[in-house]
Amino acid sequence: MKDINRYIDAREADIYNMPINERIDWLLNLGKKHSETYCAPDAYLSRKRYSAKHPTMIIALKCMDGRIHIPYATKTPMGIVKPFRNIGGMFNLGWPYLGEVLSNTVNNAIESSQRVLILITYHYSKGDNHRGCAGFNYDCESAKKHVFEIKKQVEHIFGSNHQTVYPLICGFETDEDAIILHEDEKKVLNLAECEDSSNEFLFYKLKSMYPDMPDRILKDLMPLAKGNIEHIQEVRKSHRNLALDSVHREWIICVGRGFDFLHVPNIALIIGPYSPDLGGPISKAVGIIKSNMSKGMIPDDGFFLLASAPYSEIGADRARAELKSRFLSQYVTDVIKKDYPEMMSLLNKKTAVLNWHTRNLEMID
Ligand SMILES: [Zn+2]
Repeated sequence: MKDINRYIDAREADIYNMPINERIDWLLNLGKKHSETYCAPDAYLSRKRYSAKHPTMIIALKCMDGRIHIPYATKTPMGIVKPFRNIGGMFNLGWPYLGEVLSNTVNNAIESSQRVLILITYHYSKGDNHRGCAGFNYDCESAKKHVFEIKKQVEHIFGSNHQTVYPLICGFETDEDAIILHEDEKKVLNLAECEDSSNEFLFYKLKSMYPDMPDRILKDLMPLAKGNIEHIQEVRKSHRNLALDSVHREWIICVGRGFDFLHVPNIALIIGPYSPDLGGPISKAVGIIKSNMSKGMIPDDGFFLLASAPYSEIGADRARAELKSRFLSQYVTDVIKKDYPEMMSLLNKKTAVLNWHTRNLEMID
């Protein structure tokens, strides 16, 4: 079975050694293929069918790490889970922009009578600490502490009785893509340890873990759990090669939103537009790429900056997305000029807006 989450096959493995222009073409082509798959009639209909059957809106707060691919790990059609990705998986709902985007997303759901499930995730590897989250210095306990803080913030904003917005802490074990559902800090249901994926078992199990969860949300969480149990079995059969997971060969900085197509591990650093401190993470990202070059992990002929902002309406909404994307691109460039002037001559950049309906990246610069 092809393990698409680590899908660098023999031909694509060459991307690590290709000249920068070819690597950029490869990346943009990956985005194009993603949009084509997303727009295909079958994919469109299966999303429609899925949403009609499972109306709860599902949001996932997660690390930018390419291995954390929830639709793939839960066998859910693309576009159902709405990801918020940020470097290091760090979020603070007090960040003005993050709070605004999250509140808008939740309000849109509520206005169409949907409930909202927010998966607040951390990740680790059961086989090797160094395959864990670099953003938390591979310290799973501090990553866990962080997600419980976020849960409190979600409850502060949307209430603690959980009848409309349900925050759920999930671990993601990357060796097998296993989801660990938390009842609290200690009590968990590790889906890697579940043999039974029947609806009866999952309903009973989840009901006893989350007695305050509305039945609608519970029934919409069940297919994710079921899909994950089945996916774990397939990963086991595929004899996944984990050797690449701790090899860092990042040569791309993505800034903004709209990078769902990018789940190849360890080639890109994705910085969401959420934190008011963008400069720190950007500088850190450039430092990582510089170090990858000097260690000979990637060719030293250039690196790539891709800025993107999504739009859902033509006209003013798209025009504003253009401004956002150009601003982010210029902001990153200014940070590089200031902190790593020697890297400026190696900088290649493209600026895009993302059509939310087709997931197509449209280049504007
Ligand atoms: Zn991480």
